[in-house]
Amino acid sequence: MINIEPLEEARYHVQVDGGGKYLVDLAAYNHNGFCGCRDFEVRHQPLLEQAEENGILDVTSRCKHIRRLLFKLADKSNLVAPSPLQGG
Ligand SMILES: [Zn+2]
Repeated sequence: MINIEPLEEARYHVQVDGGGKYLVDLAAYNHNGFCGCRDFEVRHQPLLEQAEENGILDVTSRCKHIRRLLFKLADKSNLVAPSPLQGG
């Protein structure tokens, strides 16, 4: 069960399985994504920052919020870019 609130371009509030609601920024870390949860802060962020310092940009390290959000977005592309139905 995932609850997604789109905020602005590439930023979402994500809540997974009744846990806390966290800010996810998909554009961060060369599109790996950033999450405000403890797991990301402890396990993923240090890896990404170290990779960035070393100039390695293709490292992927994601917490469940980012993974679940990406999975869901692949399903519901309307959450990524709400496109107007009529052009102008
Ligand atoms: Zn997270």
